[in-house]
Amino acid sequence: MENITSSSNFIRNIVVEDLEAGKYKEIVTRFPPEPNGYLHIGHAKSIVLNFELADEFKGKTNLRFDDTNPTKEDTEYVESIKEDVKWLGFEWDELFFASNYFEEMYNRAVLLIKKGLAYVDDLSAEQMREYRGTLTQPGKESPFRNRSIEENLDLFERMRKGEFKDGEKILRAKIDMASPNITMRDPAIYRIAHASHHNTGDKWCIYPMYDFAHPLEDAIEGITHSICTLEFEDHRPLYDWVVRECEMENTPKQIEFARLNLTNTVMSKRKLKQLVDEKFVDAWDDPRVPTIAGLRRKGFTPESIRNFCKAIGVAKAASTVDAQMLEHFLREDLEKKARKTMAVLRPIKVVITNYPEDQVEMLEVPYSVDNPEFGSRMIPFSRELYIDEDDFMEDPPKKYHRLYPGNEVRFKEAYFIKCNDVIKDENGKIIELHCTYDPETKSGTGFTGRKVKGTIHWVSAKHAVPAEIRLYEPLILDEEKEEGLTFLDQVNPNSLEILQGFVEPSMKDAKAHDKFQFIRVGYFNVDPKYTTEDKLVFNRIVSLKSSFKIEK
Ligand code: ATP
Ligand code: MG
Repeated sequence: MENITSSSNFIRNIVVEDLEAGKYKEIVTRFPPEPNGYLHIGHAKSIVLNFELADEFKGKTNLRFDDTNPTKEDTEYVESIKEDVKWLGFEWDELFFASNYFEEMYNRAVLLIKKGLAYVDDLSAEQMREYRGTLTQPGKESPFRNRSIEENLDLFERMRKGEFKDGEKILRAKIDMASPNITMRDPAIYRIAHASHHNTGDKWCIYPMYDFAHPLEDAIEGITHSICTLEFEDHRPLYDWVVRECEMENTPKQIEFARLNLTNTVMSKRKLKQLVDEKFVDAWDDPRVPTIAGLRRKGFTPESIRNFCKAIGVAKAASTVDAQMLEHFLREDLEKKARKTMAVLRPIKVVITNYPEDQVEMLEVPYSVDNPEFGSRMIPFSRELYIDEDDFMEDPPKKYHRLYPGNEVRFKEAYFIKCNDVIKDENGKIIELHCTYDPETKSGTGFTGRKVKGTIHWVSAKHAVPAEIRLYEPLILDEEKEEGLTFLDQVNPNSLEILQGFVEPSMKDAKAHDKFQFIRVGYFNVDPKYTTEDKLVFNRIVSLKSSFKIEK
């Protein structure tokens, strides 16, 4: 499989060639998010790519906020993005805001006007669309295209001064209305927007368009390789045009790669914002959304995300990655990090009728046989226990090896226990199971007298700690879309299940983000938002096993 840091990464190959040809002394990349939402796992791919590339060749990576669109941006997003990049394990060399370059961008636009390469247009947005032409038809020139340089300079200055309303005028590059590449048909480069900016306040009422601003930002910062996603491929001639005609000293190179898509989720900030705003999920850090904040809260580790991003590789062709592949890297990492403990999600009470009323045995059990450095903890065993609903059946099918009337199983780390009676209330609902234990069969004593087929987990009823347990299912159901439906119609109504369960007492003081493997159940993370002094809340990070295999 291709790897971000392997020789089959075509972007890495370009960098190697450029360095060998002596084109650059040092490579400089950037990660340029627009602060209009939280970062998601797709951004992680871009972060890993940019930072790892620069790192490998002892170059630099800037974090740059591409904040040229005042109405959608916010400092809350700026802060979350910084936190997420750091949490993923990367350190930027410099932190920049595109908005710091507004004066310089303005001056470069004036330069274009002076060179006869930009003009102020009065066409409305709708008219501009009509004039633009189509893939098969050339565009039409605007009647304002041949304004004099003086008039353009005057109008552009007055745009800046705030003399016109939003949309009344726009500055366009004068390139070629007949270009086969529609992007080159006199693209807009500055628009009027009377809106407060999170960084520059009310200083500006005109803002540069992405296609004009981005190449300038890259050139100003001395970026050598400007990596972006595939939809900008057609914009590359414009990118190069802006760098050249604005007479920038540095000439960054734009390289496009395929964005990451994952099954069973959505990955655009616009859609994620809609899910948050319309309350399909609690917030940007809801464990069901693929934001970095959501994944972190669910219990993902930065290593698992980085390993995934490296493994998916870098290609030019768009594709969708199976979400199970991400889970594969998650399990691989959690296996090394999570302590193994016992928890009961859907409790049924078990009474060991031959066990003394007040007796409590403390069993010393290591947290993980494979990771002795985790040490061990004491687990109390007593007359009343809880087991999971799934581990008992009154009328079991063949091959059911857990507890049922007349059957004996091992209670993990404790004894063989046999179910004798099922106690029900007047409605037939099970209240408790009456069982007996065999003192000879204690774990670790080397008992070989007989064997049982099943081992189940349990907690001591009197000692267990109540805990809220949150189970997640995919947020988006990936089935055939019917005509006219949007992604909101595919939201899974059962993406969250909340249970009131019990965990063994060793987890009483668990802290936010402590990670456990609940034996036989799955991996769980202490929720950092809902856990309080008196209430433990666990998020299921991922179930234990999957049949998913990575192709090698
Ligand atoms: P969205 O559509 O989710 O808002 P965006 O591309 O508009 O994404 P930006 O904030 O502009 O988001 O993205 C910052 C960087 O992250 C860009 O270089 C962009 O190409 C990259 N990026 C965004 N989404 C993905 C993705 N799914 N896969 C890989 N890179 C991505
Ligand atoms: Mg965007």
